[in-house]
Amino acid sequence: TIQNVISVIEGKEEPDRYVILGNHRDAWTFGAADPNSGTAALLELAERLSKLQTKGWRPRRTIILCNWDAEEYGLIGSTEWVEENRAMLTSRTVAYLNVDVGVSGSGLDASATPQLDELLKQASKKVQNPDNGTESLYDMWMASDGSLIGRLGGGGSDYSAFVQHIGIPSVQMSIWSG
Ligand SMILES: [Zn+2]
Repeated sequence: TIQNVISVIEGKEEPDRYVILGNHRDAWTFGAADPNSGTAALLELAERLSKLQTKGWRPRRTIILCNWDAEEYGLIGSTEWVEENRAMLTSRTVAYLNVDVGVSGSGLDASATPQLDELLKQASKKVQNPDNGTESLYDMWMASDGSLIGRLGGGGSDYSAFVQHIGIPSVQMSIWSG
């Protein structure tokens, strides 16, 4: 049995606009990097957003957190969910943000559809490099070999159904060593 875990935080100003974050849960073996390092980030984010809500915060747009099952088995969990909700997702989704292997090294690797290139750059300028408090993630990224933004293609992870079935602007991020 395949089970996705989907969490919805309704937006305050644009509830019918969705920003979707996803990460898979199943692993080939023990899954320390793939996918549990990404799952740790998703769970941490979920906890922070939950705490913010207890203080009365609501996001501008609806945020949907997705913990996918059966990614390694052929992207089945995310693909079935996109197919099941195709019409709604096509008309309402602003962007899909995917993290698979969250951390397996020390350099930022990012791939996106072209609409999100500039957003990636701007967002990375607002995040401190966790290994160097005097520079941003953007500085670290530009100093590394992998500073170019790749393009999302093929079926590498759960962004696939969003990009290739319903044409949603998407990004995949990872901290890795190449
Ligand atoms: Zn994976």
